[in-house]
Amino acid sequence: MKVRAQFAFVFNLDKCIGCHTCSVTCKNVWTNRKGVEYAWFNNVESKPGVGYPKQWENQEKWNGGWELKDGKLELKSGGRASKLLNIFANPDLPEIDDYYEPFTYNYARLQNAPLSEAAPTARPLSQITGETMEKITWGPNWEDDLAGEYAKRSKDKNLDNIQKEIYGQFEHTFHMYLPRICNHCLNPACVAACPSGSIYKREEDGIVLVDQDKCRGWRMCVSSCPYKKVFYNWESGKAEKCIGCYPRVESGMPTVCSESCVGRIRYNGIMLYDADKIEKLASTENEQDLYEAQCNIFLDPNDPEVIKAALAEGISKDWITAAQKSPIYKMAIEWKIAFPMHPEFRTLPMVWYVPPLSPVQSQIDQGNLPVGPDGAIPVAGTMRLPVQYLANLLTAGKTAPIESALNRLIAMRSYQRSVHVEGIADKRSL
Ligand code: SF4
Ligand code: SF4
Repeated sequence: MKVRAQFAFVFNLDKCIGCHTCSVTCKNVWTNRKGVEYAWFNNVESKPGVGYPKQWENQEKWNGGWELKDGKLELKSGGRASKLLNIFANPDLPEIDDYYEPFTYNYARLQNAPLSEAAPTARPLSQITGETMEKITWGPNWEDDLAGEYAKRSKDKNLDNIQKEIYGQFEHTFHMYLPRICNHCLNPACVAACPSGSIYKREEDGIVLVDQDKCRGWRMCVSSCPYKKVFYNWESGKAEKCIGCYPRVESGMPTVCSESCVGRIRYNGIMLYDADKIEKLASTENEQDLYEAQCNIFLDPNDPEVIKAALAEGISKDWITAAQKSPIYKMAIEWKIAFPMHPEFRTLPMVWYVPPLSPVQSQIDQGNLPVGPDGAIPVAGTMRLPVQYLANLLTAGKTAPIESALNRLIAMRSYQRSVHVEGIADKRSL
């Protein structure tokens, strides 16, 4: 057993209100500089939607896709990125239009803009029909108005068809917010791809950093990160990414996005894992097994054998105590209510997400959700947000773990409500 410590996150999507406070505080602290105006180490996407940068989830688009060969993940031969090996030409980079052109807001206009007789007209919706996805005007979060019909037709890869079909069908829509940062992966593609050896994973807490002195600006990290969470600074000619707020973490503080989060959705913590299992796990044959396989490498921080092995590996007592107190292990591994995003990307991401519940609370209270023979609420038929969509996002398509998590969340919500709102005594405490 090779025990390592990893700084990790849980984001509870049920509580995100899409206010972007996290993005703005992160920007003010880390990327309020020339060269990274367009970069958001933290961003919040409206899902389903194309995201930021546009279509970042579409691995075929950026890399030509991946395939397993002799237990190793390789770029599909013939894909655009297989030509990447010529490091003088890196064709798989998002362009500024994929991010969006930053602008400076003129606050003076709030005071001195002349009164107008006509309300503004939103451009993105007025340009949907007849235009391709790539050509229409786009901006972050514009999918709020179009929402879930993407998901219901998610098998149709042609976004242009989807756009035309759903135009105006607002009664079928739904959406959720998805805050995103670098996942500080256990098997980071950005580190593997860097020809200069400038990106590294810190031994003590697994935070992934770019050594600015070593970076030569090849941008292989930008193409290889499946989450598109590395940014190129056009002023310095170096790559930059989320640094996990390591100066704050080292002094016992939460990351700035976590501290400022209005919805209190963000949990920080330490997890212990067995590094010996990573290579085998990353080459797991069946994609649908990857979520469970990822769970299996984490170690119970209260297990005496694990503590002994961790101390022998030089992990500090403070880190072990932090892992024992960490909410992450409990939510992700013990209770199984938090999931890694797109485990099929095989980088072992360390931001775990609690899926959002969409049934309205009063419906649950009125008993309008059917209860199964075992007392569980069969969420699949009652969710406004399709369970399959959540599964595609969080468990490589397997719906059972998502349904189980949603049932637990409903049960917990009903329990908390009965105790704290309706004043029904908790029998266990009597
Ligand atoms: Fe690297 Fe991307 Fe993983 Fe972050 S999310 S560690 S940038 S591969
Ligand atoms: Fe969501 Fe919190 Fe960010 Fe607001 S600050 S968008 S609630 S993650």
